[in-house]
Amino acid sequence: MTYMWIAAGIIAAVLLIGLVKKRRRPEAAARSKVIELKAARSRKNKRTAAESNGKSQPCSLCRKPSKQLGFYTDENGTVIGVCSSCKPKVKTRQLEQL
Ligand SMILES: [Zn+2]
Repeated sequence: MTYMWIAAGIIAAVLLIGLVKKRRRPEAAARSKVIELKAARSRKNKRTAAESNGKSQPCSLCRKPSKQLGFYTDENGTVIGVCSSCKPKVKTRQLEQL
């Protein structure tokens, strides 16, 4: 009879480990998203560093070169650089700022 209990215990332990592993998967996915966001932020920082060196990028909306661009993700997920005069337009579209 004791062997049966040991076997039952092993099965229970295996099931528990399986459950824990399943629960950890979405957590890992969330973590990778955080890493992506951090990478996007560091990319943005590199861009702003290039701007401070005198390189100005054109605004994605009016195409005017601007040293102070704000970066947003549009409805299609594309990153756009917006100059200070176009920022109100972006805000009405409720785009996510990077
Ligand atoms: Zn603009």
